[in-house]
Amino acid sequence: MSFSELGLSPKVLSAVEAAGYSEPTPIQAQAIPHVLERRDVIGIAQTGTGKTASFTLPMLSILERGRARARMPRSLILEPTRELAAQVADNLVKYGVNHKMTVALLIGGVSFDEQDKKLDRGADIVIATPGRLLDHFERGKLLLQGVEVLVIDEADRMLDMGFIPDIERICSLIPFTRQTLFFSATMAPEIQRLTDTFLQNPKQIEVAPPSSTVSTVSQVLIPSQNDDWKKREVLRRHLKQAEDLQNAIIFCNRKRDVSVLFRSLEKHGFMAGALHGDMDQRSRMMMLENFRTGRIPILVASDVAARGLDIPAVSHVYNYDVPHNAEDYVHRIGRTGRAGRTGTAITIVTPKDRVSLDAIQTLIGKTIDWSDDPVFATSPDDDETKPRERGRKSSSRSSAKSTAGGRKEKRAPRREREEENEAPVVGMGDHVPDFLLRPVSLPKQKKSKVA
Ligand code: AMP
Repeated sequence: MSFSELGLSPKVLSAVEAAGYSEPTPIQAQAIPHVLERRDVIGIAQTGTGKTASFTLPMLSILERGRARARMPRSLILEPTRELAAQVADNLVKYGVNHKMTVALLIGGVSFDEQDKKLDRGADIVIATPGRLLDHFERGKLLLQGVEVLVIDEADRMLDMGFIPDIERICSLIPFTRQTLFFSATMAPEIQRLTDTFLQNPKQIEVAPPSSTVSTVSQVLIPSQNDDWKKREVLRRHLKQAEDLQNAIIFCNRKRDVSVLFRSLEKHGFMAGALHGDMDQRSRMMMLENFRTGRIPILVASDVAARGLDIPAVSHVYNYDVPHNAEDYVHRIGRTGRAGRTGTAITIVTPKDRVSLDAIQTLIGKTIDWSDDPVFATSPDDDETKPRERGRKSSSRSSAKSTAGGRKEKRAPRREREEENEAPVVGMGDHVPDFLLRPVSLPKQKKSKVA
């Protein structure tokens, strides 16, 4: 199938050609004709499937007729995060090169002034996060009666982030005659309720079963002990030896751990950046741009960054922590293997992650293999983490274990071990000659006045 068969306008087709797309992805092929017929659509699709173009391309075709009026946008795209909203805006710039559409990006963390000016001049398309949109509405700067096309993107993420009441309110402010396009990777009951209430006779399109992982991603588990310092060591080892690693996103469950891991990687000489919800908008955008252009090849991120980042060629995704929510696993690893490319997803698993790991494997409907690289089978606690029947290359593993695990030493307290592991190697490194460890009695010193 080619794009020209979908009914898109010549201007849009020429932009698609300029973007270098040879044929529509399945979600595009299925959704675009229905959107152009002005039907409501529910698209069940993961990120990376080309779903953004499945609503932006027909939207541009539809909006070619007519003009925007001050404060009355003609279409509205709701996104759960600022990054996603900014990305959709970037896509609209790319696909709208042949149009004179005014696009207003209404996101938090930046001043209202510029956004107000854009709205005053008349925006054809508004892309917004729900909170900021309602702020503008309440300040009287925005009227929603003119919205002809409403897009609710990443609805399951909206649910996770507690935005459903805002979405309901926004839906009730827009005329019932609008066309609604609704996208979600999964259809939780709350989301189903939302579509039942606000969509009219929608066409449901599903390009991959919910919770499925893309087949171009090879998924691997690596065992580790519970301690953070041990996990960081396992991660560093993998980062150093991964042959085909071009760039990586490393996911942590908690914001705090994003900062700790980022600093640790930097200290160990990795070019890394961090991305989490507490950073201001400017820093987030700069970080993303640096990652996108390759200046920073490793990005440590929280789940805020997990959905929809439009970074075409991420070679590796690391789950530094096994996500507690199994669906987050699907979203995280959806950052690699995009648009038909191959990718690798590595998950570091500690003994306490067994329940979460089981939930993930049940959700995706398959067992993820443990790494068969003997380098990652040296942990003395392996057998606690890795079920025996799944262990492979047992001979190399046991030989590796006899060297690393054979030394029975009294373990230092956790804090000490962390420091020991994190400290840069200077001087003689680990080797301390005996004479340096002998107690020395120092001559008594006069008390310093400063102290
Ligand atoms: P999305 O799922 O919308 O985040 O898109 C994932 C990636 O696929 C983006 O980098 C798009 O630029 C790219 N893409 C979208 N449609 C196509 C297409 N028809 N052919 C090739 N790449 C595409």
